Amino acid sequence: DEGDEGQAADAIQEARRLASVRLRGLGDVTLEIDAELPLVRLGQRHLVQVLLNLLVNAADAVEDAEPARRAAIIVRARQAEGGVRLEVEDNGPGIPQEVLARLFEPFFTTKPPGKGTGLGLALCREYVLRVDGSLHAENRAEGGARFVMWLPAAGQHV
Ligand code: ADP
Ligand code: MG
Repeated sequence: DEGDEGQAADAIQEARRLASVRLRGLGDVTLEIDAELPLVRLGQRHLVQVLLNLLVNAADAVEDAEPARRAAIIVRARQAEGGVRLEVEDNGPGIPQEVLARLFEPFFTTKPPGKGTGLGLALCREYVLRVDGSLHAENRAEGGARFVMWLPAAGQHV
């Protein structure tokens, strides 16, 4: 059972723990988490999976930029209108326009065979849309990518 409520702060810690082998030695992962956050409508296991995907993508992106670049990955969780806004941003190369347009397509990947399946973001989007949340990507003005997710608070069905 996936459950039908998620706790963002715990999910972020769990995703970081699960990604720790992948992130080790890469650089900094900074967490900015509001002290009081409502539970969200996405189940805990799915919430962890989504955050884990975004973290691994961020790690891949930073390594793709240049092997010696130090990662500066930030994960944010903020109370937002009717729910929680989660962000994962990196200091990788950012996302070219033609990739931005296809990010969430199943099997779309720019990674070499064996490194990417192109299923991560498609699944993330699927989980998030199913609970009437939103997930999109943007390029940061400073360079790098930012994934922004909004999830409705639990028990607030419209
Ligand atoms: P995969 O990681 O297996 O390639 P995903 O669905 O997770 O599949 O991501 C699809 C594609 O989106 C990636 O291959 C990459 O081109 C792009 N992408 C995802 N995250 C980032 C990021 N943080 N920075 C730049 N490009 C990204
Ligand atoms: Mg991926």
